[in-house]
Amino acid sequence: MTFETLGLHEVLLKSLTDSGYENPTEVQAQTIPPALEGQDLRVCSNTGSGKTAAFVLPALQRVLAARQDPTKRRPKGAVSGPRILVLAPTRELALQVSKAASTYGNHVTGLKVATVVGGVPYGAQLQALRGQLDMLIATPGRLIDHLESGKANLSQVEMLILDEADRMLDMGFIEDIERIAAALPESRQTVMVSATFAGQVGRLADQILRDDALRIE
Ligand code: AMP
Repeated sequence: MTFETLGLHEVLLKSLTDSGYENPTEVQAQTIPPALEGQDLRVCSNTGSGKTAAFVLPALQRVLAARQDPTKRRPKGAVSGPRILVLAPTRELALQVSKAASTYGNHVTGLKVATVVGGVPYGAQLQALRGQLDMLIATPGRLIDHLESGKANLSQVEMLILDEADRMLDMGFIEDIERIAAALPESRQTVMVSATFAGQVGRLADQILRDDALRIE
């Protein structure tokens, strides 16, 4: 199995070559093709498996596709929300995902990624939210703050990713996640990654994923 056969754009293949990756990991081989098809996914995976690239690469491919689509062209200077929203449990994990997005998106011209996490001043985050964003990576609590103050526009989200969903629920983010999901277009694609789908995580998956969501174990 190679990254080429998974259907990834050559701009992304270039970054993978730069990173020295030769072959996809198991979770990447299983997740990337259906994610590129727009399927909803519940991915059971632990850290160290290569799960970050498994969702970041399809997300970046969506950004590339939008750039080619004249109906999705954004007027210059207009404020527009992200096409991709990633929720992560902690500041550290959110920053890790941002770094992965920059690395794998290294050859995507003008890629705009913003990270919104707790424990840092609002000013710089507001500045980042005001631009034309491709991808927003956030912890749920801080994103809710920006949503309530009307500073985060989530009306253009095409893809929602929940990373380490079990940890987010352990940290008490269930209501925040439900409120964020309710603020997104119904037509979006949703990818949920978790070490387990038992109990509350499974119930959240049933609630926010489409009925035909694919299970990746
Ligand atoms: P993750 O499980 O996403 O935290 O990734 C674990 C580590 O594996 C990270 O340091 C990645 O840079 C690395 N990695 C991800 N995919 C691959 C791959 N296909 N080949 C080699 N290393 C990889």
